[in-house]
Amino acid sequence: MVADTRPAPPGLDDFHAAHPGVEIYCGPLTGLDLSQVEEVVLSPGVDPATPGIAELAGRTRAATGEPLVVGEIALFVRATQAPIVAITGSNAKSTVTTLLGEMAQQAGRRVAVGGNLGTPALDLLHDTPDADLHVLELSSFQLETTPCLGAESAVFLNLSDDHLDRHRDMHGYRAAKLRVFHGTRHGVVNAEDPMTWPETPLPAQDSFTTQAPRAGEWGIGQHAGEAWLMHGSAPLMPAGEVRLPGRHNQANALAALAVGHHLGLPVSVMRGVLGHFAGLPHRCEWIAEIDGVSWINDTKGTNVGATLAAIRGIGPTLSGKLILLAGGVGKGADFSPLATAAGEYVGTALLFGVDAERLARALGAAVETHCVEDLSAAMALAQTLASPGDCVLLSPACASFDQFANYQDRGDQFRRWVLARQAEAKP
Ligand code: ADP
Repeated sequence: MVADTRPAPPGLDDFHAAHPGVEIYCGPLTGLDLSQVEEVVLSPGVDPATPGIAELAGRTRAATGEPLVVGEIALFVRATQAPIVAITGSNAKSTVTTLLGEMAQQAGRRVAVGGNLGTPALDLLHDTPDADLHVLELSSFQLETTPCLGAESAVFLNLSDDHLDRHRDMHGYRAAKLRVFHGTRHGVVNAEDPMTWPETPLPAQDSFTTQAPRAGEWGIGQHAGEAWLMHGSAPLMPAGEVRLPGRHNQANALAALAVGHHLGLPVSVMRGVLGHFAGLPHRCEWIAEIDGVSWINDTKGTNVGATLAAIRGIGPTLSGKLILLAGGVGKGADFSPLATAAGEYVGTALLFGVDAERLARALGAAVETHCVEDLSAAMALAQTLASPGDCVLLSPACASFDQFANYQDRGDQFRRWVLARQAEAKP
């Protein structure tokens, strides 16, 4: 049977028509008798602590000893023989997943890419049944219901405050993410972020850093008078050849290189991909330059860690200052880690949405702040404040659902507005 907590979920009639034999239940899950159920497969959108499901925590299936409540990724693992590369972290999952997928494809592998990004994992089994490699982006919500992933390689990129409204604290959030390492043959961790390190040793492990690498590490060092991506003492490519902008993206490139190396992908192929891949939309996406001011859309900066990376990544490249557009739903996060970097690179912060005031309190000592009605007001004010050499950066550090359909809608509104101003500015 299928169950949905909403009294009238969208698509119900179509589902009925397509699956006439399947029993459907709509409403609070406490109204269900699950005492005889053999297995519950939970959507990542449903909190395992939801009443009706929470009571099943800790129960196992008599037949297999596996937990009674699992998620779609557990089904995926059961259904495939092909190796899995799994990528998790608070930020940069989609970027690294896409990079690695491109690298594997260019190297001639039959690779299927999806999960929390693009095609859902279970659909990959239909779309690419002959895949010889799966590259999956996995969220903490997907991992917390995956008992044993058994990946060929598992990557934990970084950990910062996010989703604490659901995971309750950093410990719970990290514990969910650490599940990516269960049963893996190889792991990749961030040498600068101990929160990504596994609690028990893995069969094999690589680490990346934006500093000069130690033996065996993936990092950035000096070679022939310039910064190079390196593997230990071996230079791989000039950092300036990585097309993605900012130091944070060089860290992402190193993580992808470490996995690609484990998979046996040729360095020349991986280097070619890093030289061409311009990035995904909505992640530090350059939109236009108008009267000497650049406008960058980082609407996917939905938490403090991402906005911090954007400020630190773009700030040092400017002759002027950043005008930061931020705000929305902060998901209970502590904004104070933004203050130092903002003090260094941000001239003015224009803040909107439900957590605008809280952001203003966190940033107020470091930079000039203005709370405004919405993104439109912020963009209009930014245009009057910006001078040549400045950059207007939309990187909200917050979720969007108070004022937008989703983060894409927020980024699309920004892009449309900027392109309209650009069209007006042209003679
Ligand atoms: P995810 O899938 O984890 O949300 P994305 O690749 O979509 O990751 O990027 C999300 C946000 O993280 C974007 O705002 C992007 O600019 C930012 N970001 C990219 N790389 C890093 C990094 N290495 N550390 C922190 N934030 C990053």
